[in-house]
Amino acid sequence: MTEKSPPRRKHSAGVSSLAERVLELLASGQATTRTEIGTLLGAAPSTVSFTVSQLLDLGLVAEEGTVSSAGGRPRKVLRLGGSDGFAVAAELGGRHARVGVVLPGGGLTEVSTVPFPTADGPDGALPGLAETLAGLADRHGRSLLRGVGLSLPGPVDVASGVVTLPSRMPGWNRFPVRAWLEDRFGVPAAIENDANCMAVGEHTVQPVGRRQSIMVKTGTAIGAGVIADGRLYRGGTGAAGEITHVRVEAGHDIPCSCGNTGCLETVASGAALVRILRERGLTVTSTEDVVRLASDADPEATRAVRQAGRYLGQVLAANVNFFNPDAVYLGGILSTLEPFVAAVRSQLYEGCHPLVTEHLVIERASLGADAGLVGAGQFALQRALAHALHSLTGNHHP
Ligand SMILES: [Zn+2]
Repeated sequence: MTEKSPPRRKHSAGVSSLAERVLELLASGQATTRTEIGTLLGAAPSTVSFTVSQLLDLGLVAEEGTVSSAGGRPRKVLRLGGSDGFAVAAELGGRHARVGVVLPGGGLTEVSTVPFPTADGPDGALPGLAETLAGLADRHGRSLLRGVGLSLPGPVDVASGVVTLPSRMPGWNRFPVRAWLEDRFGVPAAIENDANCMAVGEHTVQPVGRRQSIMVKTGTAIGAGVIADGRLYRGGTGAAGEITHVRVEAGHDIPCSCGNTGCLETVASGAALVRILRERGLTVTSTEDVVRLASDADPEATRAVRQAGRYLGQVLAANVNFFNPDAVYLGGILSTLEPFVAAVRSQLYEGCHPLVTEHLVIERASLGADAGLVGAGQFALQRALAHALHSLTGNHHP
């Protein structure tokens, strides 16, 4: 989604931060051997071996057979200790939630969509969702439940686990969602902004070589999540990826939800398309209506969608030139429209230096509508691993 808020995260120093990163790589499936871990983290083999042996001693990592390497010794395959563990996760929308079981490595099962009355506030909406998630956990083996992950369509204070000033979630401001879930389930919980969840979910299942990427969520609102050096990049105050409030010429003086005028959101979001098409006399009330019309090749809707893609592509081009990512992934409901994706792609090729686009991958999120769910589950698994690590080593963890 659009707004994000400060993480204010304390850093635990020393061996544990490297150990945490090793666990992250194993949880996401991005690495399975000491050599791969060393390469991805830029760490010396001796340092990696030391950390891995500590994790083996703690039972957080296990060895499982070997793989042969070209010309070298066979390498031991590493996996998470007790790798049958799983997380349950939900991606919250306005009226519905997508729920599922997330496995280490990005696997996803038992996905379904259930009603979620966001407008009823946390007290009205969360108990029903928790019941659904508990049902999933029970069916999958409750004793192996490691964590609970939630993707939220609003700004999240990751450090304190609360929602902050969510314009699309009235009644939720400062509600301690994470603590509520941990209390209810008795396992670590993680909550994150939806674009960040999508970025991490998609990154988890993409080739390891794509270390830098931008995930753009194109729905009723626009949001972006940034992966830098294989990890979510939150920025100084948690607002990295906030492209939706970049001002564009075409926006003129159209008022934006942020209080400013002429933001990208006012010309390229699903909400903007609804407004634009209504001004042209079409009967649309939601982004879904716009997508339906454009899918039916309605000329007016298709034209508007293509123009929205161009505006997004122009703003993205500046960011792609600056950041030089390996990949730009497009998610969200507008990314299901080929004219929209094509317009973004052509603007990127037109607006970026050839060196930047030479190997640039521009594609729809391969996980489609599941990217956010996989990401939320990954955050939960990572938080569970960090908890286990810190409780075993006696270090405090928030
Ligand atoms: Zn704005």
